[in-house]
Amino acid sequence: MHEVNVGRKVLSDYRSIVPKDLMAEIDELGERLKGRRVLHVNATAFGGGVAEILYTLVPLVSDVGLEAHWQILTAPPEFFNVTKSFHNGLQGHEVDFPPEARALYEEVCRANAAELTHPYDFIVIHDPQPLAMRNFVALDEDHSTWWIWRCHIDTSTPDRALYEYLLPSINRYDAAVYTLADYVPEGLSVPVREIAPTIDPLAPKNMQLSAEDATYIVRQFGIDVTRPLLLQVSRFDPWKDPLGVVDVYRTVKARHPDVQLALVGSMASDDPEGWDYLERVIEYVGGDPDVFILSNLDNVGSVEINAFQSHADVILQKSTREGFGLTVTEGLWKARPVIGGAVGGIPLQIEDGVSGYLVHSAAECAERCLQVLDDPVGHREMALRGKEKVRRDFLTPRLLRDDLRLFADLEDGRIRS
Ligand code: UDP
Repeated sequence: MHEVNVGRKVLSDYRSIVPKDLMAEIDELGERLKGRRVLHVNATAFGGGVAEILYTLVPLVSDVGLEAHWQILTAPPEFFNVTKSFHNGLQGHEVDFPPEARALYEEVCRANAAELTHPYDFIVIHDPQPLAMRNFVALDEDHSTWWIWRCHIDTSTPDRALYEYLLPSINRYDAAVYTLADYVPEGLSVPVREIAPTIDPLAPKNMQLSAEDATYIVRQFGIDVTRPLLLQVSRFDPWKDPLGVVDVYRTVKARHPDVQLALVGSMASDDPEGWDYLERVIEYVGGDPDVFILSNLDNVGSVEINAFQSHADVILQKSTREGFGLTVTEGLWKARPVIGGAVGGIPLQIEDGVSGYLVHSAAECAERCLQVLDDPVGHREMALRGKEKVRRDFLTPRLLRDDLRLFADLEDGRIRS
């Protein structure tokens, strides 16, 4: 495994942004858990929501008095083909999982588990890629280490055969954490906590950018800032439905010929399907000069994502499956009108018609886009309500509190199967 260097963050910087009682509770839990050693393990340090969360969470856990580490798996590229099929299978597709794939998966988890020599009080394993590491470390009855599986995906209707293969590994953990209780599949015998992810309001991706700076940045990518812009920020993945977003844009364009669309999608190192799908999206767009397809390869980093989200007239997240949807949180935090698919974690964030819109089809999505473009002033209040929802429920200190609470509850025996 490789240690990710997360640098330093200071909790007190967040005091004026989140509610006071939350900060008080974190202080108390930090005191209670002082010196505990925590390890987070996931598959990638770059791209996708989990890495995004850990970059902020890990240094804050250290700042409140624990010793926190983050390590990523060491694995050959073929391993990520296998685990991408896990991801698809757990989200409901039928997948093929031949014995060679099984052997590779187990071997990588075994080799990485063998590197766990440093003692930890809490080990948090994120998503299916490192899940089986638990199988290669002996169960210890006195819990010198508590093992937690943190599942970020919607596993409510998994491929049965795959799930039956993974279930015994999950059941070796002391607790499992899901974004929504609805995602917990049948047959789990470990205690479950429901904890939604969060965004970092002080990170370059979410800090306040002036309208002038946002305009300046998006103009560098060719956006005409005098014309409306629809935006979706997402990996190039069928579940994010970028082709559906292009359909939405085309319908909107029939009434608003000046509209532009930006599809901004990073290439995660653990997502081998992304490249092929990007090609499909480019082909589908067919050279339309008002559609901008950008990725981290075009130097779109955090500040540029921030600029696009701060500048866009409408932010879309037209997913057909979505564990949570950090891009929705990010869009709401920038007080922009957000339209999301009514799936997974998106309804947890958007109350339809109150703090954004939830949609079930490209036609409905296009209709909502037109409403926003026709009445931006009328949608300002809606966007502000969205931002306040994020302030209350989806900023990093809340996640920090929930994680610390889980650790304390495990130690105090308040969590049992
Ligand atoms: N992201 C990014 N650059 C991109 C595309 C996505 O930095 O080009 C970020 C995005 O801002 C968000 C995360 O990757 O923070 C994606 O998280 P989400 O929960 O929306 O989806 P996931 O990729 O985990 O399915």
